[in-house]
Amino acid sequence: MSDVRLVLRSTRVITPEGARPASVEVADGRIAAVRAHDAGVPAGARLEDLGDDVLLPGLVDTHVHVNDPGRTEWEGFWTATRAAAAGGVTTLIDMPLNSIPPTTTVANLRVKQAVATPKAHVDVGFWGGALPDNVEDLRALHDAGVFGFKAFLSPSGVEEFPELDREQLGRSLAEIAGFGGLLVVHAEDPGRLAAAPQKGGRKYADFLASRPRDAEHAAIGELLDQARRLDARVHVLHLSSADALPLIAAARRDGVRVTVESCPHYLTLTAEEVPDGASEFKCCPPIREAANRDALWAGLADGTIDCVVSDHSPSTADLKTDDFATAWGGISSLQLGLPAIWTEARRRGHTLEDVVRWMSARPAELAGLDRKGAVEAGRDADFAVLAPDETFTVDAAALQHRNRVTAYAGRTLYGVVKSTWLRGERIAAADGWFREPSGRLLERKR
Ligand SMILES: [Zn+2]
Repeated sequence: MSDVRLVLRSTRVITPEGARPASVEVADGRIAAVRAHDAGVPAGARLEDLGDDVLLPGLVDTHVHVNDPGRTEWEGFWTATRAAAAGGVTTLIDMPLNSIPPTTTVANLRVKQAVATPKAHVDVGFWGGALPDNVEDLRALHDAGVFGFKAFLSPSGVEEFPELDREQLGRSLAEIAGFGGLLVVHAEDPGRLAAAPQKGGRKYADFLASRPRDAEHAAIGELLDQARRLDARVHVLHLSSADALPLIAAARRDGVRVTVESCPHYLTLTAEEVPDGASEFKCCPPIREAANRDALWAGLADGTIDCVVSDHSPSTADLKTDDFATAWGGISSLQLGLPAIWTEARRRGHTLEDVVRWMSARPAELAGLDRKGAVEAGRDADFAVLAPDETFTVDAAALQHRNRVTAYAGRTLYGVVKSTWLRGERIAAADGWFREPSGRLLERKR
């Protein structure tokens, strides 16, 4: 008698070797085998025939601001993980800031884990935070299982999470490199930002001018210099300016251990189309011009950019005022990342295999999650079932995010997530059904 209880069959399963018809056998929450499409169903197992819907590995979103506890009116583990499940995301890693407390000590991590546990519809892990005054907490956080540490080089937007200056960056990075950890960085240079015109107001062009490309370039240059000097592993968060791609590619050729992510909004939206006063499009660094977007796609295509993750960072609607200088900076997209990227990717001739690499395999690798990120024997049976040729129009009011403000409202996107599966159990379906929370807390592999 086999342990296989479930077989998922599709004419298009995205495996590490490419898309093919297959039957995926699930036992004890893991993928037991990937067999031929017409392989016999083991005795006692249930067959779920997905027809021509595509079976993908569940997405891994390593950049989510859940804000719970402390700013749960902005988002929370219940709503965020439901949105994730509805969008085909089966693993998310929470950013250390915007919650109170921030994830900057082990005690704070324990508070966050306790809050997340009963609400997690998907698996949840945590980044720690590197602050000017918590260098001595980093090792204990690393040992407690955070996936790495986030730092800002310019003001973060919340007072309890101050940025690092150059010396503090060096100190934190040396400490983290000493125990083989990873630093993930919001790279905008505060001096370049201060030197840019800060007009404020409703005009998107003025906001864009206030966060120039050279601020990213300078901060990434500084980060790469320090990573090279300390032989440290670093990751550039939410790259917006494509001008920095050659610098990053050159550093990597020199052996600097750097990875890079970008986000759906930089890859699908453009500055030219942002209406004045429409601060649902505000994020830092900002959405830039169409030509920059094209260059980011070239960076994805040639592998300079590793991952595409959401940087889902919502707030309450009242903080999204029509003044770009003072409105909360953050775009809500956790539930929409897959269709947003797939819509643009297919238009540009990319395949679902590419999308899976950017949104599942590489983010899993970034975090060292070797049981996530692929439809392959031995991995967790985490899946998204996608109808890639079906379209839908984004109705913000129908999203699972706590605050239904999104830059994607009204857009027609390709790719309907039919169902999402976590360790062999269906957790969400397109008709709005959700399983009770069954997500687990994840810790960095030791
Ligand atoms: Zn972020």
